[in-house]
Amino acid sequence: MQWDEFSEWGAKISQWAADYHTTLRERPVRAQTEPGDVAALIAPSAPEGPHAMSEIMEDFERVVMPGITHWQHPRFFAYFPANAAPPSMLAEMLVSTIAAQCMLWQTSPAATEMETVMLDWLRQAIGLPNNFSGVIQDSASSATLVAVLTMRERALNWSGNQSGLSGAARLRIYCSEEVHTSVDRAIWVAGIGQDNLVRIPISGKLRSMNPQLLKEAIQSDIAAGYCPAGIIACTGGTGTGACDDLSEVLKISKEFDLYSHVDAAWAGAGMICPEFRELWSGVEAADSVVFNPHKWLGAQFDCSAHFLADPTSLVKTLAIQPEYLKTHGRDGLINYSEWSVPLGRRFRALKLWFLLRSYGLEALRLRLRNHVSWAEDLAKRLEDNPQFEIVTAPILSLFTFRLTGFDDAAQIDFVNRINDDGQIYITQTKVDGKIAIRFQIGQFDVTEADIQFAYKVMCEMVN
Ligand SMILES: *Cc1c(COP(=O)(O)O)cnc(C)c1O
Repeated sequence: MQWDEFSEWGAKISQWAADYHTTLRERPVRAQTEPGDVAALIAPSAPEGPHAMSEIMEDFERVVMPGITHWQHPRFFAYFPANAAPPSMLAEMLVSTIAAQCMLWQTSPAATEMETVMLDWLRQAIGLPNNFSGVIQDSASSATLVAVLTMRERALNWSGNQSGLSGAARLRIYCSEEVHTSVDRAIWVAGIGQDNLVRIPISGKLRSMNPQLLKEAIQSDIAAGYCPAGIIACTGGTGTGACDDLSEVLKISKEFDLYSHVDAAWAGAGMICPEFRELWSGVEAADSVVFNPHKWLGAQFDCSAHFLADPTSLVKTLAIQPEYLKTHGRDGLINYSEWSVPLGRRFRALKLWFLLRSYGLEALRLRLRNHVSWAEDLAKRLEDNPQFEIVTAPILSLFTFRLTGFDDAAQIDFVNRINDDGQIYITQTKVDGKIAIRFQIGQFDVTEADIQFAYKVMCEMVN
């Protein structure tokens, strides 16, 4: 492709992007395809000769678009949002154009320095104290993995990377049932083993791990000869938005000298509003905190903000410096690839700069506050309707409910009927062993009218 053709198609594609976003409500939210439908439309081998861009774009509409679930659809109420605000998309276009590898300071000083400053903007915005420094990970799963690796190395006195784990003390890590499955994966990958992930029962309205039971579990593990290594707490668990009582839990982690990681992947964005910070009160005592600007805030995937009270243990766990990665005479600079598992890194901070400047924090807060208050209103409406019952009250903008008087199969059937219909998109979870329907409000362009619309669709679909 020649560059003049690139600029012609670039302009067409940005027009396409604006049209797509402004007409999304006309499309079903969840893809309405059957397995294999899309693959059947793709040529089985690469062409030997070139295809015209016009033909490729036509095929994109014909082959790809029907098989897309529209995460940017304002009536997307499933999972958590994966917002991509327009200024963030523009920044990503620039980043793809520059396509720099940002693993070391010298491989793009602007990317490293922008990352340091943007993480500090975010730190201030969510009210973490200024001893925290940050790095952008590709995902919260990666942040949790490196936190677990740090727990492991710290507890083994930095011998695990060198000597392996066979013969090492049997490590234990503590969390509640409410944490994301990325915690299980991190435990597997770190070689600690699922059997050593100790689940502490929950209590209270916010479904926090019970601090007393946590303390007892640690004590009895020590008595039994295990080596407690860390605690993983959540603020805004995936199923119901569970929030651990961080003041109590982190006090215990300090008492037993355990490394602590707080997974606030979704809810962390809410902390730009000071009134929601009571949900993670005590967080300043954590060693590691992750939140995803790529969920609710509007910076498009991937952008996971990982804050560390002291990055030394993390860097000690992960840094490798072969000769070709040394920046001679310039040590003391931050090389962010030493803070994460992959070496290569995209320039992810630019979209934060575009997003935060283009809206300003106050406009972003207003969005999140609206989502929270609309979730409360909708939960109230469902509660007042005898056909529905609330299972867990809203935590920020997430709540769960059920159809009154129906079994699990009927709840799933309801969710499937709604998603097959396609006007809105919701998912289910399990709460205390029973299916509940999840509803979260957080899409960047959702309006109050979309929530009214969702209520109407749910009422129609009950029958
Ligand atoms: C979404 C989510 C994750 C996983 O986030 P990724 O960035 O996709 O890895 C982890 N924990 C919680 C609480 C989440 O909501």
